Amino acid sequence: MSFVPEFNSLPIDALVKQSCDSSTASVRDAMGRSRISLTDFARLISPAASESVAAMSRRANTLTQQRFGKVIRLFAPLYLSNECINNCKYCGFSRDNSILRVTLAVEEVLREGRALKEQGFRNILLVAGEHPKFVSNNYLRDCIAALHAEWPGISLEVGPMETHEYQPLVQAGAEGLVVYQETYDREIYHDLHTAGPKRNFDWRLETPERAYAAGFRRLGIGALFGLADWRFEAICVAAHADYLLRNCWKAYLTISLPRLRPCAGEFEPLTHMTDRDLVQLVCAFRLMFPDVGLVLSTREPAKLRDGLIPLGITLISAGSHTEPGGYTGAGKEKLHHTERGRIVELGASEWASAGPDIQATKQFQIADARSPHEVAELIRRLGYEPVWKDWDAALTR
Ligand code: SF4
Repeated sequence: MSFVPEFNSLPIDALVKQSCDSSTASVRDAMGRSRISLTDFARLISPAASESVAAMSRRANTLTQQRFGKVIRLFAPLYLSNECINNCKYCGFSRDNSILRVTLAVEEVLREGRALKEQGFRNILLVAGEHPKFVSNNYLRDCIAALHAEWPGISLEVGPMETHEYQPLVQAGAEGLVVYQETYDREIYHDLHTAGPKRNFDWRLETPERAYAAGFRRLGIGALFGLADWRFEAICVAAHADYLLRNCWKAYLTISLPRLRPCAGEFEPLTHMTDRDLVQLVCAFRLMFPDVGLVLSTREPAKLRDGLIPLGITLISAGSHTEPGGYTGAGKEKLHHTERGRIVELGASEWASAGPDIQATKQFQIADARSPHEVAELIRRLGYEPVWKDWDAALTR
């Protein structure tokens, strides 16, 4: 089983052209269908369909309420480590960036987890850069095992692995695996990933299938908007989701819609996706995939997030920190630089100039800085129920 041959045979450029050339009549036709094909999806994200966003929103809203009820699930990212052996031009954690790095000890991870639990969270996303020396499988397994007793929902966003490497992580208590392809454009992918194992496009593309084979019951995919043309990426994500729904049908699938945010290294987006494009895309995904979870992070500003909730979003993060130790200050005293896999201690002058607020470097800046409590209140004001916990390991026993 592999998505790669199917992906290679997709007429993506023709679908993008069809999207750009769509007429309002073909958009109406696509909207009228009970089952949306990839061609219909291309029409729904077309420039012509931007005139019909209001009608698409109404339909997306109805479908979401039918399938999910009026609930929004909340989660928080917990960064374990910002060490990485890859160079991804758009990411602050890239190995050649001279940033402040740290890998939290298991007790520090527990401390961070407890701080999030006090805020109400019961679903957590463990995030780490890819570095076999600092973020080994055993380290991840130990973090998951330590958190498992207190956290019913643990998902991972870490470097891709083999199926047999994922299995101990599932056994330790992880239930979800999130992996963004970043960009589905092979040429741009190779240009942006200049060093490290992430350069292997196909290996990354097959990651959700390996995770499924290992027993993960939630799979998350997505593209990072701002790298290739957004319609191209959206069509590829839709094709990937369609494949996973057919072949990994026991898993619950989510699609994330991250747009590039400022980060260390100051990479400028290569393409632009407007707020209106994002709204249109959320609606199009909901129309094509009525049962797939749609995820929105704190990368987006508060006002836009609030407006997107009724249109099909089912899962949001809140109060996020994108650096290890961000919730409690854990690991501060171990901050260092890393050069060629070797820890380089900070000099006295570096400690002195950084001051008491020194912290590990963030992966990116968030745009919605509201507290989890404020976000939960907003969800209630919109007439939805914020859900902190929607799963318990006892359900699988
Ligand atoms: S995107 Fe991931 S793999 Fe690439 S540098 Fe950042 S943390 Fe490392």
